[in-house]
Amino acid sequence: MKVIILGCATSTGVPIIGCNCPVCTSDNPKNERTRCSLFIRLGGKNILIDSSTDLRFQALEHNITRLDAVLYTHSHADHTHGIDDLRTFNFVNNMVIPCYGNLRTITNLKKNFGYIFDGVSSAGGKPRLELNVVERAFDFEGIKIIPIEIHHARWMILGYRIGNVAYLTDCSGIPDGSLEKLKGLELLILSALRYREHPAHFNVDQAVEMTQRINPKLAVFTHMGHEIDYDTLLSELPDNIVPAYDGMEFELDEP
Ligand SMILES: [Zn+2]
Ligand SMILES: [Zn+2]
Ligand SMILES: [Zn+2]
Repeated sequence: MKVIILGCATSTGVPIIGCNCPVCTSDNPKNERTRCSLFIRLGGKNILIDSSTDLRFQALEHNITRLDAVLYTHSHADHTHGIDDLRTFNFVNNMVIPCYGNLRTITNLKKNFGYIFDGVSSAGGKPRLELNVVERAFDFEGIKIIPIEIHHARWMILGYRIGNVAYLTDCSGIPDGSLEKLKGLELLILSALRYREHPAHFNVDQAVEMTQRINPKLAVFTHMGHEIDYDTLLSELPDNIVPAYDGMEFELDEP
């Protein structure tokens, strides 16, 4: 099972347009972050979590030419605005792509991208997507996918667990029922926006505290803003936690 962090930035990306701060002007490529998304390959299937604003760039960078499914965490712009680029995968593989999310996410996708789902054909082509509402664990082509409900300010959004890997981004709280589903993880990918507190995202201290409660073998922090310098955060974190960088890859046993 292969896991690739395609992007690990917060909504603005890093560097931020017009910003001259030390991280935005850093020479360290690990401080250059595209918008947040994850690629998982297992059981011969390619699964994308979120169609980020930077999807086209990320797919070219990692030579991803086929997507068998897209799992959506929520409908915020940074996690969805690459949706039109899914049509290229439709063309190349001549297949409709099944997409999954909770009811709010699927409802918002239909509203925010009405042109895709209005049933009117267009000369340039539109993404061909099949939207599915998921609330509990489901089987996708023999792969067990477990949606994990988490708080994102006042929204309840989804993280996902596949095998012993869990991806929880844009997280500001984890209900007890969801913590139950996060036992025995090899790899936890969790968002940590910045050092200061934020109403919709864990900061670094909150993400560290939550990681220690969940106790995975390894945790990787993602969805980071320009306050976070890769090397500095790496030196500050406990041994079982590292910051993500774009293109970070993991090979794990198939579940
Ligand atoms: Zn986000
Ligand atoms: Zn900056
Ligand atoms: Zn969000």
